[in-house]
Amino acid sequence: MRPPRCDVCDTEAPTAAGLVQFLPRPSDVAWRERAAEQGFVGQAPDSAWFCAAHLGDARTLAPLVDIELGLSQLRSAALQGDAAVDDHEVAAPGGRASEDGMEMGAWVRVLRRAMPDLAVEAGCADIVVENHAQETYYPMDGSPPEVSPFTWTEAWTVSDDGATVCLYTETARWNTDEIARVEGVIMVTPSADEARRYVVKAMSPVGSTRIGPEHVVLEGEPSPAMRDLLETHGLWQRDQGEAP
Ligand SMILES: [Zn+2]
Repeated sequence: MRPPRCDVCDTEAPTAAGLVQFLPRPSDVAWRERAAEQGFVGQAPDSAWFCAAHLGDARTLAPLVDIELGLSQLRSAALQGDAAVDDHEVAAPGGRASEDGMEMGAWVRVLRRAMPDLAVEAGCADIVVENHAQETYYPMDGSPPEVSPFTWTEAWTVSDDGATVCLYTETARWNTDEIARVEGVIMVTPSADEARRYVVKAMSPVGSTRIGPEHVVLEGEPSPAMRDLLETHGLWQRDQGEAP
């Protein structure tokens, strides 16, 4: 057997490497069923090896996306010299953001990681993940795109017949350098029980990318797991009175 090579940077990583399994696509499920039936072993098509440098991000992404999307995100982040997942803020002691709120980007990453759990809590049995991103320019007469306002939106959906969890983010920019505001909305809809549907909306003040409890609006009653997330990150206090 060849020594494993990192699927992001192709480094041979015999010691610190780790094999990571991503969310299975239908073809991966079929592969595993066939392997079990016919008793063969081998590296499943939904799994990849990562070196020590890329293992952490791979493990974070793996429960959220399939291997195709996961590898493409990890590779493009590696090309840009970024971490695919910025853990610094989320991994602060106690997982709590500073008193004056947290970065919307960090909150959105917390939510993305929690989506499969929130979906299972809402009644999903067989999770399907979709991702959609779009950039929209609002050109001003005669001005090039880099000085025109534009928005970057991204939406992730985790769903099956039992429930849908949709996360939507929008970053509005005055131009390529200045952020006007950021918005993150997560909607959880258990299909068996519309009354249990809840929405958590967060919108930063103009000119900032940080949010605090005063920027969070709840519709419906957040599930226990969602309340934990909001409380852990200082985005909801029991005395806010917006949820019972
Ligand atoms: Zn690597």
